[in-house]
Amino acid sequence: MSVTGRIHSIETCGTVDGPGIRFVIFMQGCPLRCKYCHNPDTWKLGDGQEKTVDELISEIKKYKSYMKFSGGGVTVTGGEPLLQGKFIKELFKRCKEEGIHTAVDTSGYLFNDTTKEVLDYTDLVLLDIKCYDSKRYKHITGVELEPTLKFMDYLGKLNKPVWIRYVLVPGLSDNEDYVKNLSIYLSKFSNIEKIEILPFHKMGEFKWKELGYDYELSDTKEPTKEDVIKAMSIIKEHNMNVVTS
Ligand code: SF4
Repeated sequence: MSVTGRIHSIETCGTVDGPGIRFVIFMQGCPLRCKYCHNPDTWKLGDGQEKTVDELISEIKKYKSYMKFSGGGVTVTGGEPLLQGKFIKELFKRCKEEGIHTAVDTSGYLFNDTTKEVLDYTDLVLLDIKCYDSKRYKHITGVELEPTLKFMDYLGKLNKPVWIRYVLVPGLSDNEDYVKNLSIYLSKFSNIEKIEILPFHKMGEFKWKELGYDYELSDTKEPTKEDVIKAMSIIKEHNMNVVTS
């Protein structure tokens, strides 16, 4: 019987979550509560729509030529896709049978045996490290930083290709020491292909209001171009490839 997963939504021709044109699956459920989350409607595991791996694979196959032509593939994001690790494992296994590139966009918080099995079928990990300071990480996300660092260490041992994502939020994660210490930590890994600085935005604020959640960052400004350049230059000083969106 085909394994089922709870899906929030699908973007058939995504271009920002991994290389090339991608079939992006937004999974339902997330154990984090990031203050700047722009997808709070993915938080509850029970919401969304139930789909089988078979159903998704037959959808994905319709876009195979776009993926092949562009060097793209399938990305699972969310929410936290590894909350439904068994489903992702089956999905990626089938993708690999079809010769499709696979990427998982994750916080790295759920580092367990199922996650390790998912990695057997994963070509690229997009790892969101919300902050390198453990106290501030907990303040931003509501959970501990340690599992994410253990996950990163494991990816290093596997030599798995990784893109790091860092959301730059004024007053929350833009402290120069945070960026510097993260750069020092990451510079010891040779499997990190790039670091993406994602400037904070408030496009998801309306969802918080619709869901009746209290959005704390209403008065927080988006980072300036100079703020982003500053963070990028700190990372570059540690000889890492850094880009912004
Ligand atoms: S990990 Fe992603 S989906 Fe989960 S709360 Fe944070 S930003 Fe939102």
